Amino acid sequence: MKQKYLALILIFVLLFTLAMPLPTSMAKGPTIGELQKKITALTKQVKDLTGKLSAKTKEAKDVSTKLATKTKEAKDLSAKLTAKTKETEKLKTEKSNLSKQLNNKDALIDSKDRIIDEKEAELEKLKGQLEEQEKANKLKTASIVYTNETLQPGTNIKWYKFNTNRTSIYMTLPAFEQYSYILDSTDLLVADISKYFNTEIKSKFEIYVWMDENVTGTTGSEYKNISDRVLIRGSKFFPVNHSNKIPFVNCLAHEIAHAVQDLGVSIIDRNGKPGVFWVTEGTGMYIQDHYIDYTKYNFPEDHIIIDTPDKAKYTKWINDRSFLVDKVDVSTMSKLPKDLELHSDYSIYASIIYFIENQYGHGKLLDFIEYHKTLTTPDSVSKAFGVTEEQLVQDWKKYFSL
Ligand SMILES: [Zn+2]
Repeated sequence: MKQKYLALILIFVLLFTLAMPLPTSMAKGPTIGELQKKITALTKQVKDLTGKLSAKTKEAKDVSTKLATKTKEAKDLSAKLTAKTKETEKLKTEKSNLSKQLNNKDALIDSKDRIIDEKEAELEKLKGQLEEQEKANKLKTASIVYTNETLQPGTNIKWYKFNTNRTSIYMTLPAFEQYSYILDSTDLLVADISKYFNTEIKSKFEIYVWMDENVTGTTGSEYKNISDRVLIRGSKFFPVNHSNKIPFVNCLAHEIAHAVQDLGVSIIDRNGKPGVFWVTEGTGMYIQDHYIDYTKYNFPEDHIIIDTPDKAKYTKWINDRSFLVDKVDVSTMSKLPKDLELHSDYSIYASIIYFIENQYGHGKLLDFIEYHKTLTTPDSVSKAFGVTEEQLVQDWKKYFSL
């Protein structure tokens, strides 16, 4: 509307100017024609200006509309941001609550764990007390024996004597503290080992176990066929003696094997026959390493080493001891090397039994033992295995690539 007023004012001023009487000095001024031209020009200018003004006004309107739109958008975004912030705050609170709950649960679990640990400790303690009680009760069943039969002359050792179905077990108090479990497992060991030889022992035998008391019966462990006694110096065996990794239980099985060989199938030297040392020690080793299933007994884990040698291991052992095999002319079993001091020959005998068990079968080995009661070693070998003794030795060497 403003521009219309402006135009009217302009026209009005123009007309007013024209209507005014001209001063004398201007009497000779522009002509009417010239004035009309001016009017026309001015009217055009007014029109142009009016047009420009209108365009600018339109532009201004557009900008204003855009600004309004942008402002609205900004408002919307701001509203959204506020909403999002609220949402985030809410989630944060929820998270914090959950975290608190989780911490509480952790604390609860920890306290339950502690209770379980305490209960377990109590249980262990009770078990220990029970074992101690059982041991004390067992000890009460023992008769006290003072003997110097296996001791240095003139010294008496206090033995606790226990009777089982197949044995009499003598233990000193320190030995009993370590090995009282043998009271429950010896009869079972005797029965299992008797099965290996397909025999029954005809009489009871004695087992003596001591620690560092002054007993001179043996330096380690031994079966004495003269007195039917197994003698074991417990302190020499693992886990008591950690430098000597021969475990007590494996040793016990080995010595019981000798008792069964003697009292069951009579292949111990006492019958005056030489040359079966490889069978007695070889089967002793085979029984302790391969035959006995230690897991079925209630032995303490650290008193056993379960290490079942295979062909490769035997091969390595024999080759490590080749100084023994090479030193002598090993043409027959009786010429096999002996190492009475270190017993390193035992693994050689064990390898022969392993070879026979795998190549001929257990039955043939039992046949040999049976024939050997009346026949010589060469005759027993050829009758049981169908080869000469020399051939058997050659085949054994070939089996282990000696
Ligand atoms: Zn032995």
